[in-house]
Amino acid sequence: MQKPNSKEKFRDSVKVKKSKAGLGLFATKKIPKNSFIIEYFGQILSNKERDEKGGRYLFETSANRTIDGSCRENTARYVNHSCKPNCEIEIIRGRVYIVSKRTILPGEEITYDYGEEYFDEFIKPNGCKCESCLKD
Ligand SMILES: [Zn+2]
Repeated sequence: MQKPNSKEKFRDSVKVKKSKAGLGLFATKKIPKNSFIIEYFGQILSNKERDEKGGRYLFETSANRTIDGSCRENTARYVNHSCKPNCEIEIIRGRVYIVSKRTILPGEEITYDYGEEYFDEFIKPNGCKCESCLKD
């Protein structure tokens, strides 16, 4: 399994806590815009392994490479989806990072947009519970 590397500059500025959608990852300190917060890591799967495994924690980084983020050490798996997220995903040489799109204040939940495919399969059937959808 790949372990997170030194790019995780704000790893100590976040903490897993209860959120509206179960558990979530929250800022404990101010995080500036464009900060690498945490890496989404896990076992690397081939397409065959991916298809056998299935589930919510699979992250495709290219056409034939998928990260299985289901292991508990992968704290980034607690980051919830939002339709108006404060973070986005950056994939650098096959590694997946959660990067802030704007300044995040202490207490704010870390979120990114999971993308259309995931949304349609896992979120839409029960309705989206992100902050911006609950407001409507
Ligand atoms: Zn939403």
